[in-house]
This record gives sequence, C-alpha cells and structure tokens, in this order.
Amino acid sequence: MICFGPVPSRRLGKSLGVNNIIAPKTCSYSCVYCQVGPTMKESIKRDIHFKPDVILDNVKHHISLLNKNNYPDYITLVSNGEPTLDIHLGETISLLKLTGFPVAVITNASLLTDDSVREHLSLADWVSLKIDAANKDVWKTINRPHKNLDFDRYIESILLFAHNFKGSLHTESMIIQGINDTDEHIPLLAGTVKKINPNIAYLSVPVRPPCETWVKPPDTKRLNIVWQTFTQNNITTELLTGFEGSDTGFTGNIYEDILNITAVHPLREDSMRSLLEKDNAEFQVVESLLKQKLIKSTTYKGKKYFIREYHIKS
Ligand code: SF4
Repeated sequence: MICFGPVPSRRLGKSLGVNNIIAPKTCSYSCVYCQVGPTMKESIKRDIHFKPDVILDNVKHHISLLNKNNYPDYITLVSNGEPTLDIHLGETISLLKLTGFPVAVITNASLLTDDSVREHLSLADWVSLKIDAANKDVWKTINRPHKNLDFDRYIESILLFAHNFKGSLHTESMIIQGINDTDEHIPLLAGTVKKINPNIAYLSVPVRPPCETWVKPPDTKRLNIVWQTFTQNNITTELLTGFEGSDTGFTGNIYEDILNITAVHPLREDSMRSLLEKDNAEFQVVESLLKQKLIKSTTYKGKKYFIREYHIKS
C-alpha cells in the first residue's frame, strides 16, 4: 500500500501517509523501540523503490476518493523504513507538491551526510528529524545504526541541513527509560536539539509494543524533567505521548482542556487552577482524572505538575 489515511496527527493535522519504500522494512537503523518490527534490510545505500509518477498517480487517485472536508493538511512521507533511502525522493516530493498539498517528511536523519539527501529533503515543506541521542554510546544503544554510519558526521550533517532548510523544521526524540533519560544525558540532548533550533521539538515515548521487549517509557517524573530541561533551554517543546486529539488550549470543556493540554506539556498546579477557574470548575475534576488514571501528578523543583498518563497499547 503506497497511500493511506488521512490520519489525525498532532503535528500535521490531517496527514495523508505515503510509503515510498518497497517492503520489506528497509532502514539504516534498527531502533530498539521500533514499532514496525525488526529491520529486515539494513542499508545506507539509496536505491530505486516506487517510481515517482506511480506514487503521484496513487496519491491523486486516493485524494479523488476523499470527501472534500477530509482533504489532508499534509501529504507525509512516512515509510516502511527510512524514506531517504529512496533515490527518487526529491522527484517524488516535487511531483507530490503539484497536488497543491504541502509535503512533509519524517526521517531518521542518518543519511543527511549525503549531499543528495539534503538536497532532496530541502524540497519538502515540513521535515521532522529524529534525534534520540547526544553521544555515540547512547546512539548505538537506542538506534543501533548501520555499521558504516558515523555519529560525529551525522550530527554535523543535521546541523548543516538545519541551518540551510527554508521550510518548517521539527525534531523528534524518543525517550527510553534508563537509556537517554538519565541526569547526564538529558542536558546533552537538550543542548544538541537547541543547536538544531527546530520550530518545535517533540518528545515521544514508546506507547506501542517496541521491537525489544525490555524497552520501557520513562516514568512521568522523568518525562517532566526532560520537558523542563528542554524548555529551560528555550526550546519550544511538545509531548507526543500517543494522544492525537487535535484541539489544544481553552475550549470551555474542562475535561477536554485538561486532557489536551497535559498531552502536549505538563501543567503546573497554579496554571491548572486558573484553567479550572476560567471553566468555572472545581478541583474535583482533576481528582476524577487522576482517579481514572488519565493524568498523573509529579513534582519538579518543589512545584506540582500534572501530565497526561500514557498506557502501552497492544
Ligand atoms: S528509524 Fe524508524 S523505521 Fe528505522 S528502525 Fe528506527 S524507528 Fe524503525
């Protein structure tokens, strides 16, 4: 299947997914948390996959079947593996843009060392770069990169791309308990993301069954610390903890407001109380959400925060 959706995406609104990589799963990484299973073909060699005009025809046909009010906000290259392994990625992006919809690419960024990959990706309107690690050891542990990839070159090439990219740039970091959420690593990761200077840095947690069963999401307190450290580095940071509700902010429905806001960032107790006041609601609403395990409370530097509780989906 080349084309699917649109599916709701917190980052992209309605996202029409395009898989430009021919099965089996082909990737330059074999991430311990990968939710699409083990990498069947590990590669850093760009290759021919679907022809760009075949992808365009497929997407056009798919869109022609959609109700107008279900048109996508983005066409998103999100592959069965790593989309930049497609040697025709640039041509595909250019053709997809002819549909009039903006094009997004979600990439693990490991091939940005290749000039042609940076050139192709620069044609996209919106790009998300994976950055889970700020040093070689953590990178090798989490992403298990192809043996010919080099950490320093990878970071240099991300910074080079980020510096020159004219579209909307985002990062995504998967936070894994005990691996990249440690006191030593969090500030390093925040420092690297700060240098990339994304519009928004997304923090995600493994909420679907990961490739390796030992992989666990961080506890709420840890995730809050990561978010606080990023934010203190003046990085606009949002959580992606598996809830793709599209509304955030004040809606007048206190339950929705709390769930939407805490899914994106931790809510400090004083902000929670002023939100309750705006909605003419009592603190019992918070107690009820805590009891239903929809949110959790945690303390950071003496202040209480509320954060959306996440559950592993099977
Ligand atoms: S980069 Fe993406 S597709 Fe590749 S192994 Fe990691 S999570 Fe899976």
